[in-house]
Amino acid sequence: MILRRFMKHVTDQNWFAVGLDVIVVIVGIFLGLQVQDWANRQMQREQESVYINQLHAEVLAITEEVQRRQDSTKKRMERMVFLTNYLTGEPILEPINNDYCSIISFAHIFNNPAFPLTTISEVTSSGQLPIITDQKLRSLISDYALLTELYSLSFPRLSTGSFQLPALFPQLIRLGPITIETSAGELSRVNECDLASMSDNWAFKNKLSSNTARQFANYENLVKQNQLLQQLHDRLDHLLDLSHD
Ligand SMILES: [Zn+2]
Repeated sequence: MILRRFMKHVTDQNWFAVGLDVIVVIVGIFLGLQVQDWANRQMQREQESVYINQLHAEVLAITEEVQRRQDSTKKRMERMVFLTNYLTGEPILEPINNDYCSIISFAHIFNNPAFPLTTISEVTSSGQLPIITDQKLRSLISDYALLTELYSLSFPRLSTGSFQLPALFPQLIRLGPITIETSAGELSRVNECDLASMSDNWAFKNKLSSNTARQFANYENLVKQNQLLQQLHDRLDHLLDLSHD
């Protein structure tokens, strides 16, 4: 209809009306683009809000587990350092009890420091990171994704390169039968360690020392991941105006 009217104005050589028709069309296109742009931005803001709330829920859900892994790794690592010193003749401040035998027996087991978050994987892999308007949150999301990727790649190397001491030194370590603590739902076993013979066995001590160094490196990775998780949580709380007091 607009085209027919436009052609009539051209045929009539009514150049003023032709000019008006052209202006109407241009303004119409401009307004249409503006409305579309506004709708797109509105959709992005809604998607951003979904991502931020989803990410906060995920961070909350894993925070306790990350802290638990960090604490248990710290405890294990400190005991391994203490034990390594004891076996190499350093003075010790507390008696060695059977808990230390369990530490030796499982010195090759590591807590994985990588905690991938589904929302971060979704945002980064789909190229939707620019949707996040807060520059600091965007930067934390990138850092978190990078660190998680790095630890996911390095953890298997760190873990598989450690020494399984009970299998390598059965004359020094004897794993006891497994019992199930029904109240706690946990497995436990009483192992036996020949600490006197361990002190004279440098092959054993070197391998224990190597495992201790690996536990320390893994602990540092856990601390870094946990710190980044805390920073992420603080920023999300700030953006959502939340407090956990
Ligand atoms: Zn929070």
